[in-house]
Amino acid sequence: MKRDRLRSRAGLQRDPATTVIEPRRFLSRESYALWLFEFLRVDLAQLSREQAEDWRHEAKQFVVLEGVILELPRGGGLQTGRDLPTISFLRAMQQELRDGLQTFQRGLDDWVRPPIVRRHARGGRILTESRQGSFRNLFVNNMLDLITENWSRIRACPQCGEAFLKVRKQQYCSPACSQKARTARFIAKGPRNYRREYERAVQKKLGTTAPLKNGRRQRSKIPARAQPS
Ligand SMILES: [Zn+2]
Repeated sequence: MKRDRLRSRAGLQRDPATTVIEPRRFLSRESYALWLFEFLRVDLAQLSREQAEDWRHEAKQFVVLEGVILELPRGGGLQTGRDLPTISFLRAMQQELRDGLQTFQRGLDDWVRPPIVRRHARGGRILTESRQGSFRNLFVNNMLDLITENWSRIRACPQCGEAFLKVRKQQYCSPACSQKARTARFIAKGPRNYRREYERAVQKKLGTTAPLKNGRRQRSKIPARAQPS
């Protein structure tokens, strides 16, 4: 539903020539960071046409914000300002992010920022920054900014190994991985041992840890009807 809204907004753009899309998908820094890790996980090969379009729109919004000046060199990610990034470009960015995170996890420092121009200007009481560069370089710079800001919250999913952004007590990258882990734990426990469960219950009731006698209850030794002598 969220994506449908986004699509209709994107469709409402009045001037198709403008390179600036209203950045409403990203209302906060947090929403940028969450989007990036959602993007890392998405299987681009499995998307429907509509879903693919949505990811391409959002990827463009991720970069093209107010104050961004897009350069359009060959191989820069976009041919014209009206284009959306292609799925193969998105796949390349996923790979760049995955490799970059692994680089940092190994303690290396060779994920290098590609060059962009950052200008600062005073607007009254605030300084504003504008960025200029190719779509690709701007995209990578944004990823690096978010990784830097959120490094202490980035975890590897114990189920699938993918990096994710930890929110509150979250342990797995996604509900799907959380469910898989729960199922694996259940299977690892093995089949239920009803005899053992019964014994434990009886021991608990009796307040003893003494082993219970196995097998059927023995018949009473006393004869059913005592013979009068
Ligand atoms: Zn996972």
